[in-house]
Amino acid sequence: MSDKPHEHHHGHSHPHSGGKDLSRRTLMQAAAAFTPLSLVGSSGADPLLAKDSSGRPLGVAGQPRSDSSIWKALREHAARMTILDTHEHLWHEDVRLQKKVDFFLLFSHYTDADLVTAGMTPQAVHDLQNPEIPLEKRWKDFAPYWPFTRTTGYGRCMLIAARDLFGIEDINKQTYRLLSERIAAANKPGWFEEVLKEKARIEYSVEDDLTTIRGEPLKLNPKFYKMVSRFDYFIMANRREDLDHIEKVTGVAVSKLADLEDALAKAFENRLREGMAGVKSGLAYQRSLHYEKVSREEAERAFNTLFGTPSPATADAATRKTLEDYMMHKTVQQVAEHHIPFQIHTGFEAGNRNHVARTNPSHLSDLLNEYPQVRFDLFHGGYPYGGEFAALGKSLANVYPDLCWLHIIAPGVAKRTLHELIETVPANKILGFGGDFFHVEGAYGHAQMARAVTAEVLAEKVEQGYLREEEAPLLMERILYLNGKELWSANPASPS
Ligand SMILES: [Zn+2]
Repeated sequence: MSDKPHEHHHGHSHPHSGGKDLSRRTLMQAAAAFTPLSLVGSSGADPLLAKDSSGRPLGVAGQPRSDSSIWKALREHAARMTILDTHEHLWHEDVRLQKKVDFFLLFSHYTDADLVTAGMTPQAVHDLQNPEIPLEKRWKDFAPYWPFTRTTGYGRCMLIAARDLFGIEDINKQTYRLLSERIAAANKPGWFEEVLKEKARIEYSVEDDLTTIRGEPLKLNPKFYKMVSRFDYFIMANRREDLDHIEKVTGVAVSKLADLEDALAKAFENRLREGMAGVKSGLAYQRSLHYEKVSREEAERAFNTLFGTPSPATADAATRKTLEDYMMHKTVQQVAEHHIPFQIHTGFEAGNRNHVARTNPSHLSDLLNEYPQVRFDLFHGGYPYGGEFAALGKSLANVYPDLCWLHIIAPGVAKRTLHELIETVPANKILGFGGDFFHVEGAYGHAQMARAVTAEVLAEKVEQGYLREEEAPLLMERILYLNGKELWSANPASPS
């Protein structure tokens, strides 16, 4: 254990009696004394997360292991190399600059959901972002839950950001004010350049700008981003208001299915003109990923049932699904026509609701098989359906398995999944990193975790005699850079 000061939430110790009296307080104290062993003593120059108190390295999931020269060489290679970031939701820098940020910026995305799961009320978590409430009061509300949430991948990621970007070795009662001052002071022009380019060494990020979800124009800053756009609002349209919105965005009047198809084509044209590099679908948050093939006649009937009656809301779920499935196919056909990649969310849902079974990537197999000409970038390691995810990547030439978000959901699972992908999927297909954050601090921490996971997996593959030593750095460049670069640069974009 380290000699760092630990945080104690309770003034005096509370020896428990014979192991029977594991009171909440005792548990809290035990958790508070949990030192982030896997973070101590490391620096941003080395993506290694882990050293023990005597300086010996530890693995990304905190497992002690023997050091090796190949592992060290791969960590250093990972630290130096430029990487490609296949997925972010970063606030644009001008938007970020208008926000008043403080310590709780680090607890505004993902970590906030863990706080709720740990038992903090959603309202109290929400209030952490209210700058009108004194920082000390917000800390007091947050502190009881931090010992329990610092141990997840999300918590690890914030500890790395605090350490490497702000020089704070641990987040606790002694350090949070200073960390808060440093976060506020850093919020000035140039911070994105420093974090994303200089520190995280990200060439560019594929940006899923959530403000464009309902058809708002893309605001491109090509220095940092390739932009993807969503057309899910065409797929999920089932009320007259949805069609009104589509009319407003596209200028196409919609009263029959053919109009909706025209409006979709028009929306594609508009976004391509603004520089859209690809398409993203996040519908796993709303429905099953199983999209059936629907005839045009069935779709027309569904459209007329939904919108031709005075109260379309009464239409049954099957009717809605018929039109949704049809419009998903139309969206994929637009993607095919314009030769751009299609990113699809699979697996685990962010936040504090989850309908995980419907997000299984194997639900997509019909759609993936139907459009061999479309390059599908499948997200999030399919977590927790890593096996199905790898299986799709293995046999389908048009599927690119993407580990975006996975390193912070669970670094150990990211390791396991990467091992599986290396053994199953040809090396030019694996996409190893996407930060998936609103804030650049998270993207940085996540990038370091991805580097650490990749270096460790490749080192293990060499040590186990699976890879030759000279294959490992080449594979790392494929996984963390080249595959993404090829997918996102090689598209012919709009022909015009
Ligand atoms: Zn995302």
